[in-house]
Amino acid sequence: MKTDQAPTGQRRRVAILGSTGSIGVSTLDVVARHPDRFEVFGLSSHQRVAELVEQCLRFQPRVAVLPDRARAQEARHLLAERGSRTEVLEGARALSQLASAGEVDTVMAAIVGAAGLPACMAAASAGKRLLLANKEALVVGGALFMRAVAEGGATLLPIDSEHSAIFQCLPEDRSGWGRHIDHIVLTASGGPFRGRDPESLHGVTPAQAVAHPNWVMGRKISVDSATMMNKALEVIEARWLFDLSPAQVRVVIHPQSIVHSMVVCHDASVLAQMGTPDMRVPIAYGLSFPERIASGAPRLDFLQLQGLTFEAVDERLFPGLGLAWQALAAPPGTTAVLNAANEVAVECFLQGTIRFTDIHTVNARTVERLTPVLAASATLDDLLELDRRARDEAARTVRALAL
Ligand code: NAD
Ligand code: MG
Repeated sequence: MKTDQAPTGQRRRVAILGSTGSIGVSTLDVVARHPDRFEVFGLSSHQRVAELVEQCLRFQPRVAVLPDRARAQEARHLLAERGSRTEVLEGARALSQLASAGEVDTVMAAIVGAAGLPACMAAASAGKRLLLANKEALVVGGALFMRAVAEGGATLLPIDSEHSAIFQCLPEDRSGWGRHIDHIVLTASGGPFRGRDPESLHGVTPAQAVAHPNWVMGRKISVDSATMMNKALEVIEARWLFDLSPAQVRVVIHPQSIVHSMVVCHDASVLAQMGTPDMRVPIAYGLSFPERIASGAPRLDFLQLQGLTFEAVDERLFPGLGLAWQALAAPPGTTAVLNAANEVAVECFLQGTIRFTDIHTVNARTVERLTPVLAASATLDDLLELDRRARDEAARTVRALAL
């Protein structure tokens, strides 16, 4: 029996890392529709103690994780008051322990940023069924992450809608399938600033940048969608998930977000996956693969569609997208440097320290100034150290640009 299979007749025990976020909440929504299939074993949050406590009262997980003692004590107090038996653990190590716990068979990785990498690695090494929303973890972890998945015997299921689409287009037995693929096409909505004059973006505010036309998401990924750095991270993610060369990953703008991505085969046949833009679809598929269960998402009504359109990416408006291929061609670890710079830049933009257009400057300069030297035997600690150095380098550029 494969390690990711729940024994027949038993419910899958699920740990949701980042359960209070947009993906975490959608995951709980799908899980709640199928009490016969899933049981929540563990939840985690970074800051939203009250929301985590409410989730614990509703789903009664065995374990809840918070980042530090103060928040954990607050949660313990609130839970005790309401008679809950959920055990509250604290700290980053507790997250990795939850992700690799023997009782857990499915891990939803829904933390945002490189902070989620250690727990993802723990789940991969422990052979879990790993539902990956936390794309930054794979962008930073790269080959090391994929090796942990292979060596741990984990089942890695993409949750990013584009990567779930590609995954759904491929046959269940993917051995040897790669030789039939010419390339894949990731679709991008173009975010809130598609069609704008690039010069007009300097004064964009955080509120404008997070107002995505088609998806409701966390603040960081919403800014990434506005700069198209989200798509750059997804190009890197696709390279690793599907073992493709960087040139085999292409991007096209599709403003309606109905075609979630496509596989172009050598015979010119194109396989596409479609649906309404609702993250519960890829989440439900990850939870139930290879079966299909109700997700709660509305069905696509073809007669209501106003048309599906596709256009090329305007590189002047979205200069960050090209950094994906540039980083993939550079020494290993450069994608981790790019990710760290982007996390710093987005945070500084949201705090009002730099302009929207400075995000690209910080990313490009950090990649230019910090060339990683990673041994083939590089470990998780080496990557985390590189991530720290890249953040320091990015912070220097931020100081030079600060408003
Ligand atoms: P979010 O900001 O809404 O939620 C993030 C979650 O992670 C929260 O529960 C938060 O408490 C936790 N968290 C934040 N920082 C943490 C830290 N340092 N340590 C531990 N936990 C921490 O984000 P989201 O939109 O749900 O996105 C989560 C991940 O999924 C991201 O990597 C994002 O790129 C990816 N993703 C999201 C969507 C979407 O529709 N929201 C779609 C595709 C991929
Ligand atoms: Mg996506």
